Amino acid sequence: MVIDGRLRFGAPQIALYDSCPRRFFYTHVLHVGGRRTTTAFMHLHEAVRSVVEAVIASDVPVTEQELIDRTDTALAGEGLGEHGYRAEFRDLASAMLRFFLSGRAGAIAEAPVAVSINLGGEEILVEPDEVLMRPDGIRAVRRVRTGHMRSAESKDVGAAALILAVKQAYPGAVAELVHLSDGEASELSLSDRELKGRTDKLSKFLADIRAGRFPAEVSSRTCPNCPAFFICGPTPDGPLQKKVRLTLPVGESRSDWTRIAVAPPRPNLRTNRMNTEELLDYDDVGDALREGRSLRPARGYRFLLAQGAISTSCPAR
Ligand code: SF4
Repeated sequence: MVIDGRLRFGAPQIALYDSCPRRFFYTHVLHVGGRRTTTAFMHLHEAVRSVVEAVIASDVPVTEQELIDRTDTALAGEGLGEHGYRAEFRDLASAMLRFFLSGRAGAIAEAPVAVSINLGGEEILVEPDEVLMRPDGIRAVRRVRTGHMRSAESKDVGAAALILAVKQAYPGAVAELVHLSDGEASELSLSDRELKGRTDKLSKFLADIRAGRFPAEVSSRTCPNCPAFFICGPTPDGPLQKKVRLTLPVGESRSDWTRIAVAPPRPNLRTNRMNTEELLDYDDVGDALREGRSLRPARGYRFLLAQGAISTSCPAR
């Protein structure tokens, strides 16, 4: 892989590399992988997430009635206002949001700031969801999720990135994972040895990404639920060139891979180009992978696929 500029990924993005490097490649490098079919339950979580974000962004404490009103509005905004299970969804959302508010009781909210962690010249950007000065005088830097906690979540590289960010920017503070479906806030704790191991792992991931290593972690359990399931397989031969601009924000669902048109490539019979206004970029890349054909031009950015090799091992399914 040919990359101009420094790598910069958010902690959730790099955690995806940990679970399956190939999925990371489809999601954050090629921006393909298909779309998930959204369920009513996913819309419920989206509604809760929007209320949480609004509460964090607001300087004014939220009353019980305001919480109910905001929940109803958010559920309606997600198309659940007339759903047959609307009452049940409303109860679930209310329980999650009440727990969220209870964790803030008596605390002073501070504006969360993104923390940049430099690892060997590359960058991990950690964006806490909220920072609270608790009544006991301890500052809590929190990541808030609406779902349940995964078994390894408190020890994975994402957790390590949050701990590193807290050590760097909030000395003396604690790092917390809040899971609203569990109704639990878990304080993160890694021993020095564990933290060093995770830091080394993060550095290795970044080096592997730069080197174009994206092996597939094939699993009969996770692959069927992967958005990239139907395109996962061989990738075209040749180096992939991307230009990276360093000023973009990084978030859970955004990529720091900037799409910048590059200068016309030198004539090369083995070079395929993607650069037209006719097609959406991700649709065409996905279609090309699915159909096993060469890439067609795509909008707004250009991949140069030339003779060479990137990691292209095909998962055996
Ligand atoms: S289908 Fe499986 S191997 Fe392929 S990207 Fe998804 S999780 Fe990884």
